[in-house]
Amino acid sequence: MLGFVSATGIAGLTVGGGFGYLTRRYGWTCDNLSSMEVVTAEGQVVRAAADENEELFFSLRGGGGNFGIVTSFEYRLHPVGPQVMAGAVAWRGEDAPDLLRFYRQLTASSPRELTCVAVLRIAPPGPWLPKEIHGKPIAAMFVCHIGRPEDGEKLVAPIKAFGKPVADILVRRPYAQMQSILDATQPKGRRYYWKSEYLAGLEPKALDALVQHAGRVRSPHSAIILFHIGGALNEPPATHSPAGNRDAAYVCNITGSWEQAADDAANVAWAREAWQAVRPFSTGGLYVNFLTEEEGADRIAAAYGKATLDKLRSEERRASSALPARHG
Ligand SMILES: Cc1cc2nc3c(=O)[nH]c(=O)nc-3n(C[C@H](O)[C@H](O)[C@H](O)COP(=O)(O)OP(=O)(O)OC[C@H]3O[C@@H](n4cnc5c(N)ncnc54)[C@H](O)[C@@H]3O)c2cc1C
Repeated sequence: MLGFVSATGIAGLTVGGGFGYLTRRYGWTCDNLSSMEVVTAEGQVVRAAADENEELFFSLRGGGGNFGIVTSFEYRLHPVGPQVMAGAVAWRGEDAPDLLRFYRQLTASSPRELTCVAVLRIAPPGPWLPKEIHGKPIAAMFVCHIGRPEDGEKLVAPIKAFGKPVADILVRRPYAQMQSILDATQPKGRRYYWKSEYLAGLEPKALDALVQHAGRVRSPHSAIILFHIGGALNEPPATHSPAGNRDAAYVCNITGSWEQAADDAANVAWAREAWQAVRPFSTGGLYVNFLTEEEGADRIAAAYGKATLDKLRSEERRASSALPARHG
């Protein structure tokens, strides 16, 4: 139930919600929690579960870390792999409009075992991409099918056959390998600025806007990413946990990434402009773990909705008076 980058901390990811290649099938990471051991603000060690400290258990499933320090998580695990049909296919940047329309059509009907992530960016000098494409715009799809590899082969055949790919490493491989395939895109030491929105669907105008802004990118490390997450997470009621956002089917993430402080303004401006273009198509919700530093009370309220936020605030007052307020 981990994220798309294997080094992402499981604790912060879980208490903020959590999504990755298994989300379509099994819901938010925090939907799969059985219990937690928590050190409270008073220094007590308590168990939080559906039948014990229920309010604390509720708050820590997406409400963030201001309710105590979780010292252990007990998850409901699901067998995956070891071999799965997974990897990536890339096309030239000029194919992006058609590719995103294909992505829209594909993800509208694909089974929950299949997760596809669309990426618009400049081709990095990765060994899986031909040298002549390095430094040029590409549209890529990262694909992971967590069911039987033979079923996966059939399901991904249309992806491999779409247009004229410039690279294709969508093969049978260990799930654990797929889980780290994007790690190299997020090295430590770079400068990062992300913006995100949840989308209920992929309107053609939203896709056009994303293509347009990908064409204006200011850094070869930045990307516009669509994660397909719709499925199991849409089933529980809105009141199930603070992770909420049960109407989300996609996460649109604008990931600004560059190297020099002197380029901060240009890259932040690019991310903000791309984000503004996609906002009209948002569910209105957003992933609390992708909030940037300067995003304030209105964005936190958008992440949770008023009823959940009120409930979190009251639990926060009760449980963590010694900790600094976060849901301010
Ligand atoms: C490169 C990258 C890729 C990412 N990809 C994904 C992804 O695919 N899916 C996804 O869901 N998220 C993703 N994220 C976001 C990620 O979920 C958050 O950054 C998360 O906070 C990371 O967890 P951490 O344990 O490292 O948190 P930290 O940065 O250590 O802490 C962040 C906050 O989490 C809370 N927290 C952390 N540990 C505990 C604890 N033990 N008890 C209570 N509260 C705690 C606290 O509020 C803390 O302030 C990504 C982030 C990065 C940087």
